[in-house]
Amino acid sequence: MKITDIQASVVGRNVPDSGGSTWTFVRVYTDAGLYGTGECNSAGPIWSRMATKEIVMGRYRSLLLGQDPLDIGPLWERLRRDGRYSGGSTAPMTFALTGIENALWDIAGKHYRAPVYRLLGGAFRQRIRLYADCHAGHDNSPAAYAEKAREVLAEGYTAVKFDVDGMAPGKHDRYNYTLSARELDHVVKVIAGVRDAIGPENDLAIDCHGQFDLPSAISLAHAVEDLRLMWLEEPLPAENVDALAELRAKTSTVICTGENQYTRYGFRELLERRAADIIMPDLAKAGGILEGKRIAELAEIHYVPVAPHNVSSPLGMMAACHVCAAIPNFLILEFHGRGIAWWGDLCQGDKPFIREGYMAVADAPGLGIELDRDAARELLMTGDTLFE
Ligand code: MG
Repeated sequence: MKITDIQASVVGRNVPDSGGSTWTFVRVYTDAGLYGTGECNSAGPIWSRMATKEIVMGRYRSLLLGQDPLDIGPLWERLRRDGRYSGGSTAPMTFALTGIENALWDIAGKHYRAPVYRLLGGAFRQRIRLYADCHAGHDNSPAAYAEKAREVLAEGYTAVKFDVDGMAPGKHDRYNYTLSARELDHVVKVIAGVRDAIGPENDLAIDCHGQFDLPSAISLAHAVEDLRLMWLEEPLPAENVDALAELRAKTSTVICTGENQYTRYGFRELLERRAADIIMPDLAKAGGILEGKRIAELAEIHYVPVAPHNVSSPLGMMAACHVCAAIPNFLILEFHGRGIAWWGDLCQGDKPFIREGYMAVADAPGLGIELDRDAARELLMTGDTLFE
C-alpha cells in the first residue's frame, strides 16, 4: 500500500457558538482505496491554524507520498527529525505530525480490520469517563458557578472543571500575576461554592491557565487544600518546571499540568522533577496516538495518572478515547463541546457520542468514526475547502 495524497482542512472558525474553536482535519489517501482521517489542534491564532495546514500539505506531504502508510513508527520519526534544525520541534510542526499520525492509525485499523485500541494492545476499559469543562458565563459570582455546576451534573457527569483566572474583582494590573487579597478571597469562595453545590461524591477540577505567580499559586493551593480538588490545573505558566516542582512540594492540593507540553521529550523533565501529580497531555497536539501512549507509559513508571486535555471534535476525541482505553493509568478525559449545539453533527457514528458523562470507545475498524462531509463543509473556516 502506498500513500497517494494528503489533504488538510480547517473547520469551525467564525461559526456561531464555536467558542472560537477550530479543528484541523488531515486526510491521507492510499492506492488501496483506503483513506484515513486524523485531527489536530489548531485553536491558536490565525497563523497557527493555517500554519498547521501548510505544514501538512507542504513539506510533510512531499516526504510521505509513495510511502507505506502502515510504517507509522518510522514515518513519524522521519517527520519529527526532518525539521529539528529549523524549529521542527515547535508546536505547529508537532500539531501537523499529530494529525497525520492519527490518519495513519485510521488507515492501519481499516487495513487490519481492527479498532485502533486493539492495535495498541487492547482495552483496559470500553467507556471513557469524562469531565465537563464549564463556564459560568459573564457572572463571576460564586452563586453563578454553583448553579452552572448543578446544571451540568444533571446531564449525568460526575466531574466538572471551572476556570478561575482573570475572573475576580481586585486586579490592579492585567500583566501582573499576583493574586490580591480580594481576588484570592473571591477565587476561594467560588471554588468552595462549587464544592458545596456538587458534594463530595463528584469531582472538581480548577483551571488557572498559568496566570498566577509562585507566591500566589502557593497561597491558592494552600487555601483550597480542604476542598479536595481532583486537581488544580496550571497554577503557574508551563515554562518553569522547577517552580512547579516547588509549588507541588509545598501543598497537598493535587497539581496538574501538561496541555502545553509536547511529545515524550516535553514530559520527561516534568515527571523526573516530580513537578506534577497528574499530567494532562492534549492528544490532538502532543504528537499523536502512539506518542500519547508513550507519554502515559512514562507517567506510569512515576505512578502518575493521565487526564488528557481535550478540545477536539468528536473525531479527535475518539482518537483520544482509543489512547485512554489502552493505558492503565487513565484518570478522566476532558469534554469541551457541551456548549456547542452542532458539535456532534460534525461526525457520523454511534450517536449521541456522549452519554451520562461517558464516551464509548468505537469498535469499528480504525478510529471507528468518520467526518460528516456535509456538516464539515458547511462549517469550514472562511475561505477553506474540504479535502480539495
Ligand atoms: Mg487548561
